[in-house]
Amino acid sequence: MQLEEKDQVITNLISVTTDGILQVPDTPVIPFIEGDGIGPDIWAAAKRVLDAAISFAYTDHRRIIWSEILAGEKAYQKTGEWLPEETLQAIRDHVVAVKGPLTTPVGGGIRSVNVALRQILDLYACVRPIRYITGVPSPMRHPERVKMVVFRENTEDVYSGIEWEAQSREAEAVIAFLKDAMGVDVPKDSAIGVKPMTRRASRRLVARAIQYALDHELHSVTLVHKGNIMKYTEGAFMKWGYELAREKFGDRIVVESNGGLQPDGNAPPGKVVINDRIADMMFQQVLLRPQAYHVIATPNLNGDYLSDALAAQVGGLGMAPGANLSDNCAVFEATHGTAPKYAGKDMANPVSLILSGVMMLEYLGWTEAASATEQAVQKSISDGLVTYDLARQMPGTREVKCSEFAETIIERL
Ligand code: NAP
Repeated sequence: MQLEEKDQVITNLISVTTDGILQVPDTPVIPFIEGDGIGPDIWAAAKRVLDAAISFAYTDHRRIIWSEILAGEKAYQKTGEWLPEETLQAIRDHVVAVKGPLTTPVGGGIRSVNVALRQILDLYACVRPIRYITGVPSPMRHPERVKMVVFRENTEDVYSGIEWEAQSREAEAVIAFLKDAMGVDVPKDSAIGVKPMTRRASRRLVARAIQYALDHELHSVTLVHKGNIMKYTEGAFMKWGYELAREKFGDRIVVESNGGLQPDGNAPPGKVVINDRIADMMFQQVLLRPQAYHVIATPNLNGDYLSDALAAQVGGLGMAPGANLSDNCAVFEATHGTAPKYAGKDMANPVSLILSGVMMLEYLGWTEAASATEQAVQKSISDGLVTYDLARQMPGTREVKCSEFAETIIERL
């Protein structure tokens, strides 16, 4: 590489200072993983919209230089590996990346590439904002009351992937150990799974959720767990969460069970209420009283269920964005998977990935482009030009293809 070219690459790199502040050049290189299934369709649409929004907001002043990196089926076909080391290194080096969905076989085959990516890069906080866009069909009578951000622990609990098939040598060994060493009787034909949850991972996730609530002036952080049954894992998550909240945020929080709330149930100005709810009960709370919840911090499996259910309340998975964050890098991706039924059909709703891109623009501090994109999405929907998933629930609208939807959004910037 010529010296000038090398300098150019370095000046296009996003970096993080020792104080954790993101430094973003005007023309950053951002790697993307196209994804499997509907990934190529929604990524092509999202990229066009994001580029157009940046050009609309900053003319020639700012631009993203997209750089493809491989993972999933495309990586396997081209390199024989599902998640090449080069891809991981590119994300580390570039700090910010975007990713389409990747296939994971159920009940056997490769372990999840998504999980591996999150664990290897220590992307410990999966952040999924759930917000209603006016005009989107919803099973709720008041979907506009659903306004929450889910912080889901992203590296352990069921993501540890420690399990053994029923009647395997390993399962039988664990069952024998439980009987001999622990005095616990487990039926011999049981499949065995292990659910490790650490104090460290629980605390850092809760810290990130509380900091987010404070930064965005949101009223509450709810620790969602199943600690009534799983006392030393889910129950510990709650305990460690309260412990962290008191230690790190002391006078900036109010614990609900200690009282001191205002008559409307909120904390005094400048403070955040910390409360907890049992996971099953939380599913009815978010349906019946969504306005009472703002930020949710929860272990891995609860967060997975809850964020898909919340997405359904505001229009379905096609509308659900997300981000996976570590202390050093961020990977933005939709909440949903590869939707294989619609792969290659140019039908899927790209809004999930476009809104993940909006989260990325906000993360970069490019807020003008972020809000232009959001408004254009809103306008396309209120003009009744929508993909199949919304059209089938919105009489009188016109169904457009994924690529056409991108075009209608760009026209409305
Ligand atoms: P899914 O891919 O999320 O899709 C399930 C259904 O959700 C679709 O059939 C469709 O519903 C709706 N949907 C999802 N995305 C949509 C979009 N952009 N536009 C419109 N509708 C959308 O779930 P899955 O079928 O359980 O999983 C398929 C594969 O994806 C699996 O291999 C799974 O492991 C993987 N996965 C990957 C990720 C990831 O990469 N982060 C996340 C979850 C799952 P209708 O059929 O009702 O229209």
